[in-house]
Parts: sequence; C-alpha cells; structure tokens
Amino acid sequence: MIVVLSKGITGHDKEMVRIYLKDRGFAIREQSFGEDMIIGASGKGVVDVRELGLLPGVERVAATSKPYELASRETRAEDTIVTVGNVKIGGSRITIIAGPCAVESKDQIMETAARVRESGAVMLRGGAYKPRTSPYAFQGLGMQGLEFMKAAGEQYGMPIVTEVVSPETAVQMKDLTDMFQIGARNMQNFELLKKAGALGKPVLLKRGPSATIEEWLLSAEYLLASGTRDVVFCERGIRTFETYTRNTLDISAIPVIKSLSHLPVIVDPSHAVGIRAKVSSAGLAAIAAGADGLTVEVHPRPDEALSDGPQSLYPEQFEKLMRDVEALAPVVGKELLRTPRPHHHAVFGLTPSGSSPAAGDTVFFDADAPVAFSGESGAYAEQALMRAFGDDAKRMQTDGFKPVFDAVLDGSASAGVIPVENSLAGSVHENYDLFLRYPDIAMVGELKLRIVHCLIADERADIDSIRVIRSHPQGFAQCKEFLDRHPEWILEPYNNTATAVASIVRDGAVKVAAIAGEAAARAHSLRVLKEGIETNPLNYTRFVIIARRVGDKAPVPPSLGSGMPNKASLVFSVPDDDEPGALFACLKIMSDRGINLFKLESRPIQGKPWEYLFYADVSVPDSAEVFDGVIAELKTKTRDFHFLGAYRAAV
Ligand code: PEP
Ligand code: MN
Repeated sequence: MIVVLSKGITGHDKEMVRIYLKDRGFAIREQSFGEDMIIGASGKGVVDVRELGLLPGVERVAATSKPYELASRETRAEDTIVTVGNVKIGGSRITIIAGPCAVESKDQIMETAARVRESGAVMLRGGAYKPRTSPYAFQGLGMQGLEFMKAAGEQYGMPIVTEVVSPETAVQMKDLTDMFQIGARNMQNFELLKKAGALGKPVLLKRGPSATIEEWLLSAEYLLASGTRDVVFCERGIRTFETYTRNTLDISAIPVIKSLSHLPVIVDPSHAVGIRAKVSSAGLAAIAAGADGLTVEVHPRPDEALSDGPQSLYPEQFEKLMRDVEALAPVVGKELLRTPRPHHHAVFGLTPSGSSPAAGDTVFFDADAPVAFSGESGAYAEQALMRAFGDDAKRMQTDGFKPVFDAVLDGSASAGVIPVENSLAGSVHENYDLFLRYPDIAMVGELKLRIVHCLIADERADIDSIRVIRSHPQGFAQCKEFLDRHPEWILEPYNNTATAVASIVRDGAVKVAAIAGEAAARAHSLRVLKEGIETNPLNYTRFVIIARRVGDKAPVPPSLGSGMPNKASLVFSVPDDDEPGALFACLKIMSDRGINLFKLESRPIQGKPWEYLFYADVSVPDSAEVFDGVIAELKTKTRDFHFLGAYRAAV
C-alpha cells in the first residue's frame, strides 16, 4: 500500500500517519517518488483505507494489488522519465546507448565512443567487470577500464553505463559511472540490488535469462525500495528451447512491462540475438513494440573483440540502424533523442555561409523565456514543442499563429513552434505568408509529428449520444471516412483541435465530441471514445521552430542543434513573368550544383493579382562555398529573394 502525502504536510501530521500505520502492524518506508512524497506500507496489517485517506496531510492512498508497489503503474499512472546526466530515458523519446561489450583498452573505448557518438548514440556502454560463463575468458579491466570509459564519456559528452557485479565494487564505482547496470546473471542477486539501489544512482536492470516478468518487476522493487528512483528495465532475451539465436527476444515483454509499470523499458538486441546480422532487425522490432530505447554492442573491429565479437555491430551497421530508428520513431509517436548541446552552443548561421558558423559566433538561447505555440494545452503544436525543447520546457499559449511570431519578435518568447505542412492537407499558407511579413524571424529547426486523431468527449458521453463534433476543419477533412458513417452529426469548425476539446469542458457539454490528439483529452481530463479515426494513418504534420535573427544568426533548440544544417527554405519571385524560362533558370542554377529541391510551391503575391512567389525547400551541400555561390547567383536571377533559414532536416 502506498500513502501519497500532500505537498505541504507538516512534520506533526506526517508523524501521525507513521504512527497510525505502525500501530496497525505495517512496516513503513518513507521516500520521495517523482514529485510526490510517499510512505510505502507493507506487511499483513489491517487498515480502513478510507479512514487513512482522511488523515490530515494524506493526499491519497493507493492500495495496490501487486506485490511490486513502487514499480507498479497503479501507484503512478504517468510514465517515469529517468535522467542520466544530460540524457533522459522514457516518455516520448527514444534513447540509444551503444558501445563495446567490454572495455579492452583506452584507445578501443575512445575510438568506439567517437564512432557511436557520430552516429547519434547519446550514452556509452561498456563492461569493466565482465561476468563470463567461462573462468578462462577475459574478465574485464576492472577499475582501470572504468576510468578509461569515464574519460571517453567525458570526451564525447555521453553519460556512461557499466555493469556492477558485487556490492563491494559498487561503492568504488559510484563516482565513476553515471548509471549502474545489473546484468542478467545478477538480476536476483538481492544483496547487490539493495546495495546498488541504496547508492541512489540510476540503474539499468537487465532481465534474467529465466526470469518471469513478475520476478523482474520484483527486482526493480528491491532497487526502488532501497533508495533509487531511477530504474530502467532492459529486455535482453530469455532462454527457450530455440538454440539458433543466443536467446529469444521476448518482444511481448515490452508492452506488458509498459502496462504494469511506469518505469521505462529498453531492449538489448545484441545479447538477445547474438548474431550480428540479425541484431538491427530485432532492435527495430523492439522500437516498433514501444521500447523507450536500445542498448547495442558496437566494436570498431568486431573480429578482434575480446568478448561478444560475433554479435557486435560494425560502426557502419550501427549508423544504418540509427537512421532506421530515426525513420521509425514518428510512426510510434516518438522522437529519437539527440544529445542536447548547452544552450550557448546552439547556433546555426542563417546566411548561407553561416552553414559553417565560426567559433565564437554564438547566439544565446534565452532558456528562461517560454516557447510559444498556438492553441490550448494538448495541442499537436505543444507536443511538437515538447519534442524539441523537452517535456518540462516553459510554454506560452497564444490564440493564433501571428501572436506566436509577435511573441518571438518582441522577445517574450525565446522561440515558437508552428505547423507549415500536413502530409495529407498540404501547406499552412497563413504561416508561409507570415514569414514574409516578419523578416526578422527565421526558421531554425523542423520536426515531424505523426497525427493520430481521437474522438474525445465527456466521461458521461458515449458514441450514440453524440450530436455535434468540433474540430479544426483539417481534423474533419482527415477523418472524413469516419465522419461519413455518421451523417447525423453536425460539424462545428474551431481554430484549433485542442481549443475544440477545451470548449467541451467550458460548456459542460455531453452531446458534443471533439476530434483532436490524445494529449488534448488528457490535458482536459476527458475521455477518448475512439482512437485512430483518421482516414489515412500515414498522417504527419511538419512543424518548424522559429527564432529571432540576431545579425545573420539565430539560436537553435538544443535537441535539434546536433549536426550542420542540411536543408534551407527560400522564397523568391522571378523578374518577368512573361519571359519564358525564368523559373527554369533559377532551378537550373541549383540542379547544376547538385542541390536537391525537396519542395516547390507557388503562392499568389498579396496585392499583385496573377503574380506569384515560389517557396522552395532545398538541400544544403557540405560545402558552404558552393551554397554561397548558388544563393548569390539566385539573387541575380530573382526579383524578391528571402532566405527563411537553414536548419537540420527532420527525417
Ligand atoms: C552486457 O550487457 O554486457 C551483458 C553481459 O549482458 P547480459 O547481462 O544481458 O548478459
Ligand atoms: Mn556482451
């Protein structure tokens, strides 16, 4: 049983709760849990839960039906997000850990760290103490190996995770590692679990090869009950009758753990499969099944590896896996986590030559100012914002796109997030037009969000009682097949899908439903009557991040700032619309230099009937010089020319 205490509980009231429970035969343990202070009570005591709930300072009592109380979803409904250094695991992100099976030398771990970091891994793995099946196999470099690994992690800005094999070494390792790994063979080494938990560090808990899911959850309970708050499950294959692969990856454990526990779960496809050529497929399957990340063995020369060479990926294979994970992420509604850069490093140039910003040319991101979006909480734009700036980013809600531009321009917001294009409905022209009216605002990043529409209504409503549907007109258009089945419904357009949801609460309406994302239902405590009602599930919206230009630069959100810009957006008109080939001449300049055109669209010029502006998204080549040349030449061939920004393309 878990007793959640009110935030402002007095010392006296807390003592009364403790006495109440002890008097009734419970063993108690007090602990902070996420934002909450809780008292865990275990034993065979008898208590009137309602009476306990009425004691001063008690917010609620969760009488869990599970033997693992702290790890249970019944105790905490929201996903726990585990923080390891500058990396987060859980929620809407996919976190990739990579590195060798074992640290073999300083050079080997440095080289591996460099390679996996370059491909986008955000944490470094590696064993310093190796529990090997044979006593004659390489046992690891011990503390020296850990020191090499720490140096590699620091050099490449990656927190490290390494296996701890005994309670004694746990204490020695504490200040060198960012996260402890409990290996499969030690999952039920309870003395080790108690020691590792008590040290308070995040723990990656591997599943024992013959452990049931419940035994695994109970091992997590040991860690949580001993003092750590940060536990991540790691499925690494279980022992079955099959011998072709090293173990059998239990994919179904992922959704099972997700429903039983609030803790994140990642997958180790390397130890699960044991065969290099099959590792990436297993990893992708895990992501598709809802895993919060992967831990993958990578070695620069696997054939020379001192342990687990046959299952270690070549760096090139790992790089491909990262690209595939990035492409898969939006399908499961997640974003691949990139190592956040410190705010003051986040800068891209906005002029073409800025694609190689000189050191010292720094533009500061005002981390204290909020990020603006249009709509209510739960809006798709807010989800995009959280992907780019983090779940706990400060947000500013506005009631339209223009106010987002205004807030960014006057500095009351450090950045803004606006939709520019939907894969089904096309461009959001209003926003493209706003860029021309706000020349001091630039595009500095983009991301794509999968749009899954839900039918959302009051708790008391059911689908037969609904008479009116509210949403943004694009919401109606994207759910046409579903709506066509209910010709009796009256459609009421709203500015924004989340605003439509909010209106149901405001009006106390029970016969009204809204079409919006699940996050909007959660934000307004409404019920999802039906999920996934969009006609085409391949429904994505492209959002751009906007920021104010400072000279020819602008700041970039940390999570979107890794790597050089590879995409730019331009707007131009051609000099004489009657002259044949004017547009062709512009496109030829680009094609001659190998610049790819991702998108070209024409828009009427306001106030000049029958004259058009061209909106182009183009690739940015590695050579800034080539790109500068192209832009300079384009300027001579165009009448109006606007460089909206250069940024890192979303997949
Ligand atoms: C490891 O990750 O290095 C390892 C030994 O894995 P497991 O404990 O899952 O066998
Ligand atoms: Mn290994």
